[in-house]
Amino acid sequence: MYKDIATPMRTKEILQKHGFSFKKSLGQNFLVDPNVLHNIVSHAAITKNTGVIEVGPGIGALTEHLARQAGKVVAFEIDGRLLPVLEDTMSPYLNVTVLHQDVLKADLHQVIEEQFADYEDIVVVANLPYYITTPIIMKFLMEKARVKQLVIMMQKEVADRITAVPSTKAYGSLSIAVQYYMDAEVSMIVPKTVFIPQPNVESAVLCLTRKENAYPDVVDEEFLFIVTQGSFLHRRKTIWNNLQSSLPEGKEKKELIQKAFEVAEVDPGRRGETLSIPEFIKLANALYPYFH
Ligand code: SAM
Repeated sequence: MYKDIATPMRTKEILQKHGFSFKKSLGQNFLVDPNVLHNIVSHAAITKNTGVIEVGPGIGALTEHLARQAGKVVAFEIDGRLLPVLEDTMSPYLNVTVLHQDVLKADLHQVIEEQFADYEDIVVVANLPYYITTPIIMKFLMEKARVKQLVIMMQKEVADRITAVPSTKAYGSLSIAVQYYMDAEVSMIVPKTVFIPQPNVESAVLCLTRKENAYPDVVDEEFLFIVTQGSFLHRRKTIWNNLQSSLPEGKEKKELIQKAFEVAEVDPGRRGETLSIPEFIKLANALYPYFH
């Protein structure tokens, strides 16, 4: 067994050896607490039959833990300066592949096909770069990448928004977009002190597990998200007012929206934040014939 990378001393040693300096613009906050890493990895269902995708391996603190448990780890790292560092730190682990790529530009389906052809079970485990937390999550979900679980560290505030329930301040189109695809649960709150350098905010580990065909009655997914986003256009306004402004103009727009509210049995005087996902689905399905 090799010494853990994720201690303040070992991390500083590695950074010094390679003359590495942090780039704030790339969200580089490296984990230096092995307990947090154990917690993250224990919440991911990883065996030797699992393929793991990591976003942003940094110097490999989390990567080495994943490599010890998984069949294969493929890690996307945008910062070319980290490639020689990872070559060094990951040299004991033959099951790690680092892709020098911006994960947001990656063709996930192609990478999964090429790298994980023999793997049925694929999970994403990452300490995300915080400046692009939401786009990364939405990319994995909306592109329907063949991934059954994501265990990811992010700003606590974003994890709170993702897991929020109706009629709370944090509930919004992000809660709906993620919970539409996944069961979401916070597994750990993480203090700033376990990172070098320390971020400005508290963090949380979020577990997302795919819901299998949870909402089979959705007529059009894209339109559902247009309606949910439109319903939160101005949080203090009613869904009726928000949809009047956000749906495309057309003949008898008001009457058609009115009709859809009746069909969906939703009170137009409610605010978006009070509607559950099944209620949004009913409303979007009723609006779809007139506005798609
Ligand atoms: N996994 C390491 C750890 O836990 O110590 C580092 C995590 S650090 C919060 C985020 C990492 O993501 C950095 O290594 C950064 O260079 C990388 N990164 C930032 N933007 C990226 C992108 N668009 N695609 C891939 N990696 C990215």
